[in-house]
Amino acid sequence: MRNTKRTVPKKAVYTDADLQKFFIAVEQTADAVFMTDPKGIIGYVNPAFEKITGFSEAEALGQTPNIIKSGQHEPDFYKKLWRTILSGETFRDIVINKKKNGEFFFTDHTITPLKDENGNIIHFVGIWKDITDKVQTEKRKDEFISIASHELKTPLTSIKVFTEILKKSLNGEAGEKAHKYLQRLDEQIGKLTTLIGDLLDISKIQSGHLDFHKEYFFIAPLIKEVIEDLQDSTQKHHIVFNQNNQADVEIYADRDRLGQVMVNLLTNAIKYSPQADKIVVDMKNSDVSVEVGITDFGVGISQEHLEKIFDRFYRVYDNDDITYPGLGMGLYISSEIIKYHGGKLNVKSKKGSGSTFTFTLPLE
Ligand code: ADP
Repeated sequence: MRNTKRTVPKKAVYTDADLQKFFIAVEQTADAVFMTDPKGIIGYVNPAFEKITGFSEAEALGQTPNIIKSGQHEPDFYKKLWRTILSGETFRDIVINKKKNGEFFFTDHTITPLKDENGNIIHFVGIWKDITDKVQTEKRKDEFISIASHELKTPLTSIKVFTEILKKSLNGEAGEKAHKYLQRLDEQIGKLTTLIGDLLDISKIQSGHLDFHKEYFFIAPLIKEVIEDLQDSTQKHHIVFNQNNQADVEIYADRDRLGQVMVNLLTNAIKYSPQADKIVVDMKNSDVSVEVGITDFGVGISQEHLEKIFDRFYRVYDNDDITYPGLGMGLYISSEIIKYHGGKLNVKSKKGSGSTFTFTLPLE
């Protein structure tokens, strides 16, 4: 670990009692520990290794870690693992391994090369935590989100259709009042539709099934369209589009999905700047990319949260005692959509002053 002061000097002389203490620690820890020589031949396993894998010490010694290889990863994964440790670096990842009885298990795994004074690798030490239960709980949660959002979508579609029919069949004075309520009902249905759409998108991203339909189109009209739509929903904020004298560019992308990103970022800009009255959308392009920035003058985000706000379900709760509605899905979905297009979604922000979210898309 860099920047951490070692409490034990590197060349300390350890007494037998010290070594005994370290040995007991390794023997009794709940995490599996094994050591191999530079060729990968196992020379030590601790009792946790035996317990988790089902291989006894006698069965494991002299073998390679192939005995627990599940084959569940692509060959590239194993190649990367070897490349990393042979270059003297620590490998860390979630690895699916296999027990003696054939059962798969998930591990949070590190493999570290141990070196002599000359920097030659003399051993590899593998340490892992069994995280199978955690992974399975996550999987069940993902399945639940997927099923629940599908189940919610069907009745919602019917409610929307019936609302439209009702609207059309209402006439006269009483009808006017009813129209007003139906309008509100429509707005709420709109919110629910977005929410369920986001939940469905999240489960599609998790399973790798978010589909895209790419086409060629100019980006400025899309930006203007989204701004126009959102301007209708806010009286307080004026949304300004700065094309910065840039010529419009044609991109090859999924127009609806990019519109979804713009809506997400602009909705957030409105939501998180209740005291401001302006939002600026900038467009800049170069020979190789186009960049769209959305700037608000609202609550901003402090440094400690900046990196995490693109994580699934991450929300910031230190916004001056005000609770903003939301579930922390929009930025995650947006950044996945931009990533799919080979681009990047970035944020610059200062707490109390506002934020700029910028996405960059490569031009083909
Ligand atoms: P949601 O807004 O539904 O919580 P998002 O994924 O869109 O979910 O955003 C995640 C979090 O990032 C928000 O909860 C909020 O704390 C922060 N955030 C996003 N956009 C802004 C913004 N324009 N200004 C300040 N905070 C923001």
